[in-house]
Order: sequence, then structure tokens, then C-alpha cells
Amino acid sequence: MERLDKILANTGRWSRKEARELIRAGRVTVDGALAGAADDKYDPAALFCVDGTPVSGERMVYLMLHKPAGLVSATEDPRQPTVLELLPVHLRRVGLFPAGRLDKDTEGLLLLTNDGPLAHRLLAPKRHVDKTYFVQVEGILDAADTAAFAAGMTLGDGLECMPAGLERLEAPDAAIVTLREGKYHQIKRMLAARGKPVRYLKRLTMGPLTLDPALKKGEWRPLTEEELAALR
Ligand code: URA
Repeated sequence: MERLDKILANTGRWSRKEARELIRAGRVTVDGALAGAADDKYDPAALFCVDGTPVSGERMVYLMLHKPAGLVSATEDPRQPTVLELLPVHLRRVGLFPAGRLDKDTEGLLLLTNDGPLAHRLLAPKRHVDKTYFVQVEGILDAADTAAFAAGMTLGDGLECMPAGLERLEAPDAAIVTLREGKYHQIKRMLAARGKPVRYLKRLTMGPLTLDPALKKGEWRPLTEEELAALR
């Protein structure tokens, strides 16, 4: 048995707070009967409806996750823990995958969804969706690094990078990097080529999405209607 607000929030469609509002507004039924209070306990296998529509079954889920270091951005891995392990079991069975990967040691904004077409559109190289990252390096960043990023670097292995942003911050080893593409280990490779290896990397934004400062590492929440509308 589980609390009603938790059961609704575990669908990934509403936050706990939104679920409580739906319940209070009398919009939730359980097995056809008007639901009680948010802290009433129900069998999660019951039929839950909001405005008469079942909340389970085939549906699209969109979650913003604050990825911690140490987890891989994959749905399965034989040896390493994946970001899906941060989700309750109900949400591991709805086909979620990370839309755009972060390295195992990279933190920050990760979108998890089961909406393949939306993820595809977001990640299509031609779309050039901007992504910004906070980065700390070994060494000191200078104007030549910003100029090299802006010019578009070609790396030692021949990888051609599109022009990218590197905005230096007050701390001499820190910057905000903006990429319009997402090649394997791209920021690490670009900065290694400048002789300034990355020490810490965190994604802050992805297109219209900004990492919610209220989310601690390892926490997630459903996208809001506004965020979803901006992505579409
Ligand atoms: N660039 C990297 O090197 N790693 C990431 O995780 C993202 C961008």
C-alpha cells in the first residue's frame, strides 16, 4: 500500500504538490470512487483516473534529472549503475532513456523521456540545440582559449568542432562553455587540446531547459507544461 500522492507522482506526470492539488480538487478517482486524501494509502495496482482518464498505460513521460557523477547515461549497463536507478521502479518500466548523454563523471541537466520522436528532434545534429556547461580546468583559461573555441577547433585526431562559446568567469580556471553539437567527450577533448584538462563538468542548460536549482544531485521532477511546450 502506498500514499495516493506518491502513487500519482510516481507516474512522472505530476510533482507530489501537483498530485495533492488534483486530489484536493476532487479530480482523482480510485477504482471508480472519488479518492480520499493525499496521505490515504492504496494498492498501486488499482485503477487511478484523473478527470476520468486512467493515469497508467501507454503515456509519454518527460523528466528533468540532476545527474550526479558516477552513473552512466544509459538504460542498461552490465557493470555500472545507470541513471535509471535513481527512479522508482514504476518509472523504470515505461521505456525512459536519456535524451543526450553525459559522461559518467559529468553532472547536471539530463532529460529522460520515452518520447522517441521528440528526443530525435532535439538531438538531430542539424537542429543545433545549444547546450551550456560550467567547467573547471587544470590551468588558467585565457582570451586565446575563447578565441580558439569561437574560431572552431580541429582536434589532433581530425575532429572538426563547430564554433563554440567559452565565457571566462571570475575564477581563472572556470568558464561557461556553449556547444551547438555533442560529440563524444567534446568539451574534454577541446580543452585537452588547449593543454587545460577538465577537472569538473556540469551541464546547465539544453535548448530551452535550465537545470532547476531546487533539484539536488540525484533528484528529478517532471517537466512543467511550459518546459514541455518550449521543447516542442
Ligand atoms: N563534453 C564532455 O566532454 N563530456 C560531457 O559529458 C558533455 C560534454
